[in-house]
Amino acid sequence: MQSNQRNVYSLEKSQKEKDTVEDLRKLGKKHNINEIIPLSTGDISVAQWVRLKCKYGCKKYGTSWCCPPETPSPDETKALLSEYKKALLLCGTARNSQFYMDNQKKRRLQVNGWKGTVALERMLFLAGYYKAFALVSENCALCKECSYPDECIFPMDRRPSVESCSIDIFQTLKNIGKPFSLAHDIAEEYNCYSIILLE
Ligand code: SF4
Repeated sequence: MQSNQRNVYSLEKSQKEKDTVEDLRKLGKKHNINEIIPLSTGDISVAQWVRLKCKYGCKKYGTSWCCPPETPSPDETKALLSEYKKALLLCGTARNSQFYMDNQKKRRLQVNGWKGTVALERMLFLAGYYKAFALVSENCALCKECSYPDECIFPMDRRPSVESCSIDIFQTLKNIGKPFSLAHDIAEEYNCYSIILLE
């Protein structure tokens, strides 16, 4: 697990914590999560503009249990974050030349990352971090077509995405001093970020 200079906190004080971190890292790798960075929730930025991007410009808006308007508003997210001091940022990378198409390859990548994030949350819960709660990356793709507004098919795995909670991930990365780049070409590798609120 890597940490940055500004927002270091130790998750590896005891042998049990060291083992938990090692288990997280191993499980994360299976789900394309290459890096896990501890951060303070004070460095997670919430902004109104993120909600606008969902509402104006994303075809998923109003079509999923894991997208706005079902997910926490910016004010609700701020209130939620105030109940936590620590979080983990999960960083993954993917490449998909058909990113903008709803195809099986994209869905497989999404589901793998989604399930991995929820599995890590579960692992943390069992390790004693009982408040652990995952905010996943992108939109829920567990079903080929979301049943919204009818009952969710997999409520146990349902989580809001980072962006659906109006979290400004780019500002958050800047806050912790982590460099990032945008993919400018459909063939380029791109980054995916999830967050687990810890304690
Ligand atoms: S699990 Fe299925 S029904 Fe539930 S939010 Fe995800 S896609 Fe929609």
